[in-house]
This record gives sequence, structure tokens and C-alpha cells, in this order.
Amino acid sequence: MKKVVHLRPKSAHESAQEPPAPAREAFWAPAPCAAPRSLVVLGATGSIGRSTAEVVKGASGAFTVSAVAGGRDAAALARTAVELGAAFAAVADPAAYRDLKAALAGTGVEAAAGPEAVVEAALRPADIVVGAIVGTAGVAPTFAALQAGRTVALANKECLVCAGPAFMKQAAASGTRLLPVDSEHNAVFQAMGEADLAAVEMITLTASGGPFRAWSFEAIAAATPEQALAHPNWSMGPKITVDCAGLMNKGLEVIEAHYIFGIEPERLDVLVHPQSVVHGLVAFTDGSVSAGLAAPDMKVPIAHCLAFPARLKTKARRLDLAGVGQLTFERPDFARFPALRVALDALRAGRGLPTVLNAANEIAVAAFLERRISFHEIARLVEEACDGALGDGVAREPETVAEALEIDRAVRERTSARLPQGAAAS
Ligand code: NAD
Ligand code: MG
Repeated sequence: MKKVVHLRPKSAHESAQEPPAPAREAFWAPAPCAAPRSLVVLGATGSIGRSTAEVVKGASGAFTVSAVAGGRDAAALARTAVELGAAFAAVADPAAYRDLKAALAGTGVEAAAGPEAVVEAALRPADIVVGAIVGTAGVAPTFAALQAGRTVALANKECLVCAGPAFMKQAAASGTRLLPVDSEHNAVFQAMGEADLAAVEMITLTASGGPFRAWSFEAIAAATPEQALAHPNWSMGPKITVDCAGLMNKGLEVIEAHYIFGIEPERLDVLVHPQSVVHGLVAFTDGSVSAGLAAPDMKVPIAHCLAFPARLKTKARRLDLAGVGQLTFERPDFARFPALRVALDALRAGRGLPTVLNAANEIAVAAFLERRISFHEIARLVEEACDGALGDGVAREPETVAEALEIDRAVRERTSARLPQGAAAS
């Protein structure tokens, strides 16, 4: 059984020759601290990236930002780079280079473009790299940061679903760690404290249930992108919002929890909790249960990871339990939300199925947002991809990131080929 080791984040300024780490409380305090902690923000223009910027700006000099990276929005990336005082800004889309360069003219911020430039951003000097790119696009730069020994504050769950074994192996080899930004995993991480995994009976992740929680199967099947994007509790990027609507997000998160906590699928559970107040629970072998609670505001787990093991003072939303009134919990309905079942089946089947699931889901969600397929076809396409992969050996367990990305590429190709051509679905 794997043991959860709570390492403190390793500073880029430290070397192996230096004396052992100081005690928890003696380590880095955010307020009047000797040296600010330096960050790289990958996915700086997205929802998590923006929340990270707010935490950084509100932390009165506790952080510096050496580099930022984004997908294709050159203007937003340039604004963020200047706002955060970054020295380097990388945009993944080469076609956005001219715009980025023009937007950064006279600012002193170096502009670069292309996937290699995003990796370069990930390798700029930093104590913590915030992994907030959406999808498999985040795998290579986030992995590069781990290889370079950076502590990674990980929001990008697709990294672990696509290449979990390689990521966890690399984190151990680099003597660094992945700090979970995802709110459920962050809550579990906090609730677990220093407990040994052997003392954990069950880890439960909660799901809000999304906009379709009370909808019939037929209504969900016919849902439009606008309806899927109307999340009741969280404001997030489009891909994760659609994942949430079908509970695929919770399936991805159970897989993420399996890797990040090193715990087997049988000790992972899901509860639907519409208020999004209790994000994760840890039940111990003595009958005790610890839970992580907070208002649904991603600045809370982001601040926790950036300051870990210290605490920041933030302006994040405060939890008002009397205002919330009631906390309710229910079992997920696998019949109306087949995507959750498909994801849990993929985890239990093991081998490369999480990688397959992740790749097919990205293609299917994009097709749904382009109105090429209906909502219930997302889960169907993903399940077909998993079944197909089991049948023909594509689903070997990827031991390296290169192997995972090769499976990812093959599954994307096949899933894309199964999409209806031409006109959008009505
Ligand atoms: P988003 O769509 O708002 O932002 C995605 C970011 O990734 C943007 O900055 C975009 O420019 C960048 N990006 C896209 N392709 C890129 C590429 N090829 N190279 C570099 N950058 C690229 O998404 P988000 O909601 O911020 O989510 C980001 C990740 O965090 C996802 O994996 C999501 O599952 C996870 N997450 C998000 C939330 C949330 O509340 N938003 C909560 C938990 C986990
Ligand atoms: Mg989450």
C-alpha cells in the first residue's frame, strides 16, 4: 500500500547539499517573509489562471511571477503578464505570436509562441508551477516542470487521467510533489492531514450535480451547450463545465484521486451535494470522518497550494453555514449520468483505459460544444472508445508520458472519425 508523504514544496533556491528542511511552522510565512515565493502560471488566461492572479495580487508581495503561458488569446495573455510582472509570456498558438509581441512592445516582457515556448515557460525559475492549462495540452509542460523538480500546484486533472503513473513516478523521482488545486482533492488533502493511508477507510468526493441534477434522462440527452454551460455553483472554463453537467468531471476526479493519493478505486466514493460546501471527506478506520468545507471559490484551494504549508489571508468568499441552512447529500444516479459509470469502469479496468477515456472525452465535449453531437452522445462515444481500445490492445498501460500521448493521439483520431461529418446536430 502506498503511503502519502506530505513533503513541503522544494524551493528552486535550495540544493541537495543544503541542511534538512526546517520544521513546518518555521518554513515560509506569507506575511513579512524573507523572500517571496516565485511562480509560473500555465493557463494564466483561464478561469483558474485568473483566480490565481487574484490570489497573487491580494497577497501583498508574497509571490513573484516569472512566466505565464496561455493557448491563443494574445491580448489577454499580454495583459496578465504585465499585471503579474512576469518576465516571459508564451502563447501556444504560433499564429498568435505577432499579436503577443505587439501587445508586449515596450513592456520588457519577452514574448514567445508554440508548444515548445509553453514548455520553456514551465521551466523558467520558480518555486511553484501552477498547472492550469485545460486538457491533454497541459501534459507536456506540466510534466517538464515536474522533471525539473518544481512543486506543481495542479488544477489540470487531465494530466493525471492521461498519464497518472508517469506523473506520480516522476514526482517521486524528482523529490517534489503535486499539490491538488482541484477543490475536492484539496479538501481531502487538508482533511487527511498527516494520516497514514492505511488508516483511511474511504475517500469521498462530492459533486454539485450540475445543471441537470433534477432533469430526466430524455431532457439531459437533448440538452443544448447553453444549458450545459449554466453551472449553478461554479464559474469555470467550458470544457470542465460540460464535464460537470454529465458528471464526467467527477469520474475524471475519482481517477485523479486514485493517482494523487495512491488509493485504490474501492476506497473512492462519490456523493452528490448540491450546495458545494463539503468538497471532500475522509473516513478513517476508527469511524471518524474529517471533511473539507469552504465556499465554492477556487481562490481557496489555490491559496492553500500556493502558501502550503503556511496560510494566506485572502479575500476569497467566506462560508456562511447559517446562510446555506441545509447541507444535503444523495447517491449519484448512474442511469441518468452514464458518463460517471463509464469513467469508474475505465478506472477499474485499468491498463490504458483512463488515457483512452480522457482523449475520447475531449473530442466528444468539443464536438458537443460545436453542436455536432447531442449531450448523451458524449458518454456513448467515450464508452465506445474504451470498449474498442480493450478489444484491440490500444489500452496497454502507458508507463511514460510519450506512451500516454501516443495512445491519446490514436484515440483522438478514431473518435474524431466517428463524429458525424458536416452539419451540426440540431
Ligand atoms: P479555461 O478554459 O478557463 O482555461 C484554460 C487555460 O488553458 C487558458 O488559459 C487557455 O489559454 C490555456 N490553454 C489552452 N490550450 C493551451 C495550450 N495548448 N497551451 C497552453 N495553454 C493552453 O479552463 P479552467 O476552467 O481554468 O480549467 C483549467 C484546468 O483546471 C482544467 O483541467 C480543469 O479541469 C481544471 N479545474 C478547473 C476548475 C475551475 O473552477 N475552473 C476547478 C478544478 C479544476
Ligand atoms: Mg473539482
